[in-house]
Amino acid sequence: MKDSIARVADRSRREFLQTAMLAAGASIVSLPALARQTDKKLGVALVGLGSLSTNQIAPALQKTEHCRLAAIVTGTPAKAKAWSEKYSIAEKNIYNYGSFDRVADNPEIDVVYVVLPNSMHAEYTIRAARANKHVLCEKPMANSAKDCEAMIAACQKANRKLAIGYRLHFEPHNLEAKRLGQEKVLGKLRAIEAGFGFVIGDPTQWRLKKALAGGGALMDVGIYALQGARYVSGEEPIEVVAVETKTDPVKFKEVDETIYFTLRFPSGLLANCGTSYNAGFNRLWAGAEKGWFELSPAYSYGGIKGRMSGDKTISLPQVDQFAAELDDFALCIKNNKPSGVSGEEGLRDLRIIEAIYQSIASGKAVRLKAGG
Ligand code: NAD
Repeated sequence: MKDSIARVADRSRREFLQTAMLAAGASIVSLPALARQTDKKLGVALVGLGSLSTNQIAPALQKTEHCRLAAIVTGTPAKAKAWSEKYSIAEKNIYNYGSFDRVADNPEIDVVYVVLPNSMHAEYTIRAARANKHVLCEKPMANSAKDCEAMIAACQKANRKLAIGYRLHFEPHNLEAKRLGQEKVLGKLRAIEAGFGFVIGDPTQWRLKKALAGGGALMDVGIYALQGARYVSGEEPIEVVAVETKTDPVKFKEVDETIYFTLRFPSGLLANCGTSYNAGFNRLWAGAEKGWFELSPAYSYGGIKGRMSGDKTISLPQVDQFAAELDDFALCIKNNKPSGVSGEEGLRDLRIIEAIYQSIASGKAVRLKAGG
């Protein structure tokens, strides 16, 4: 019965498509060809084969339903060789930073995924858009709000989609925290505490260089606490006040070590958020009129755990967040739907981050425009 309903639905969909195409004066293409077109896995070109690409994104691309690893962009020939062997990537689908713009001529590439140091996100997103490719760009979107605006404009001009690698928007426990907060399941939210920090190693890495990273812990992991406060409340902050400390001014000469910032939301809710490159914490807590809920760890790649008042646990499936994020973007492209983690979402965070740095520099609270 189910099968026959599916067959009827499939036939009427085909008939509808055929009629619509004829009405639009389209040249007649065979229906199997059309089916291949929509069912096709989108080809992803990974730009930057560092730790995240190697350990998370490439393995995730082996599990995705709607996209596949089609091409790589790397400045290291040894990596090109190892990756092409491991993932069967043809020579013609291997680029370096100089030849990158030639992705424009490669029909196997639909999406460029930018996984480079933060300062390079804007340049490679804009070049990818000019090559007529959709772009998934890692967080933080760029080093400044101005760069984010240029990235959005470039993708709009090329009529290509832009999404930011906010993987927790596809993680079940974080989605549940968002539902509990936004649907006021425990009543109105009164306070949020969110923090993400870790002890950073190698003092020579790009994350500690302002020109490449744009900032320190705040840009790298504080952004998760900021995101958490925004998606749990469903509100946009109207004011922020922040303080910074450096217990190791040599290692953290160029970038921030530890920052606490308090966001004020229109409802009166306050979110106290922390981030550090010199202390480990990973937590998202919200207190409401009738109780509280918490994720701890909240932002890891896996093993997210949740609890709530009444001695309850929030226990949901652990998913490959990168595979979910990639498939969501592929479906947004295939179905021409806006991404929930758009460039505009990345821009909102950068505007707030700039206000946080401004508050630290001035020692004063900084007002934010509603809606970022
Ligand atoms: P990484 O240092 O491991 O890799 C960076 C890659 O960029 C390397 O392949 C390196 O060769 C290449 N590169 C090109 N030009 C470079 C230059 N001038 N200096 C340094 N490296 C250069 O970094 P990563 O951890 O893979 O992070 C890459 C991006 O992904 C960053 O924007 C980071 O914020 C983001 N990230 C996101 C998550 C997440 O959970 N979404 C996790 C980790 C990193």
